[in-house]
Amino acid sequence: MDFGLRQDQRMAQREARCFARREIAARPADRPADNALVGKMGQLGLFGCAFPEEYGGAESGFLTHSLVCEEISTVNSGLRPLFNLQGMTVPYTILQWGSAAAKERYVRSLVLGEKLGCTCFSEPHAGSDIAAIETTITACGDHFLLNGTKTWISNGHAADVALVYATMEPGSRHRGLCAVVVDTHQPGWSSRAIPKLGDHATPIAEIHLDGVRVPKENLLGDLGRGFTVAMTALDRGRISVASGAVGLAQACLDAAVEYARRRNQFGHPIATYQLIKGTIAEMVADVDGARLLVRRAAWRADQGQPFTREAAIAKFVAGETVVRAAGRTMEIFGGMGYSLDMPVERFYRDAKLYQIGEGTANIMKILIANDALGLKKANRSRPPNFAGTTDLA
Ligand SMILES: Cc1cc2nc3c(=O)[nH]c(=O)nc-3n(C[C@H](O)[C@H](O)[C@H](O)COP(=O)(O)OP(=O)(O)OC[C@H]3O[C@@H](n4cnc5c(N)ncnc54)[C@H](O)[C@@H]3O)c2cc1C
Repeated sequence: MDFGLRQDQRMAQREARCFARREIAARPADRPADNALVGKMGQLGLFGCAFPEEYGGAESGFLTHSLVCEEISTVNSGLRPLFNLQGMTVPYTILQWGSAAAKERYVRSLVLGEKLGCTCFSEPHAGSDIAAIETTITACGDHFLLNGTKTWISNGHAADVALVYATMEPGSRHRGLCAVVVDTHQPGWSSRAIPKLGDHATPIAEIHLDGVRVPKENLLGDLGRGFTVAMTALDRGRISVASGAVGLAQACLDAAVEYARRRNQFGHPIATYQLIKGTIAEMVADVDGARLLVRRAAWRADQGQPFTREAAIAKFVAGETVVRAAGRTMEIFGGMGYSLDMPVERFYRDAKLYQIGEGTANIMKILIANDALGLKKANRSRPPNFAGTTDLA
């Protein structure tokens, strides 16, 4: 693994940092993202790092995507889910698994921020256990019909395009699952906002699907093979999520260092006390460790090497790191950490999601342990990616 960054990667990182400090920091952090902001991010190329030029991308790879994601999350982690949806999960899954017509119709417009996307796995009775999905997909002439309920859908209220996972036969588990691309602006698609603790820049919704129509050309992969599509989407998504966790952990660390230097107690800055130094040292080591693991996973994805195991480790460690970092920052701030006038309370609220979304901490541990114990190899062979490289993820 090369620990240096290429010039294009450094440039993308710098550009994302400038944009985040200039445009994102100027907005109230809890204000939901709007089309204008998403459009600006798309035009600047922030979503396109991992995409081919013909789809509006820069062909710079997953590591570049990770660097950009980290920068955005450092300034506002609440925008990270939206960034992942636009810059990775939705368009990349269509790019890898979609028909020529679906790629043509959706990928570029998502990457450029002209359309908003969402991903619909979760249901009231299917969270960690995706194979328990109950939403049905039924063939009807030249299209499919979808019926069911999805929940916890980030951006679900505003999305123009949705990746929906549904089963041909409830109870058939992995075998019956299908993945399709859905145009949301049609009868039968409705959403209801769900109030939540943090990440307010990306609202979430419950989605009702009542006879929603999907052209057959919008099927991703083969009929009944949607579980494989889901696993590849989650692997890549975990790199994004872990990158965001590192970004927010860095924001916690920066705030803790700055406050410890200027807060005086007992006649000295609290930064001079060994217990505070110890906390800062542990935070630095945690964030550095998590960042290296995230970059290893992204680097392996760029090399076309298997990375399911590495993405799970990165996601698990980064999720634990950011929750610990937010708690420690709040401790260093003392009472001010509890104030609604400081960003620290937002860090605390936003951090927790990193142990839940894109596979909970427990699910990551199961994947990692099953691999270590020889029960289920994580880095198994998977179909080639869009470029036809040896993507064994
Ligand atoms: C803010 C937010 C945004 C989200 N965005 C999206 C989105 O855009 N699209 C989408 O599809 N979903 C989304 N989700 C849903 C998210 O992916 C799920 O919450 C997550 O997968 C966990 O599912 P669950 O909530 O049903 O928990 P459950 O699966 O019910 O798990 C509950 C607890 O049990 C544990 N558990 C479950 N199974 C096992 C096991 N076998 N062994 C040990 N422990 C286990 C879990 O780790 C967890 O601690 C979002 C969630 C949140 C909170």
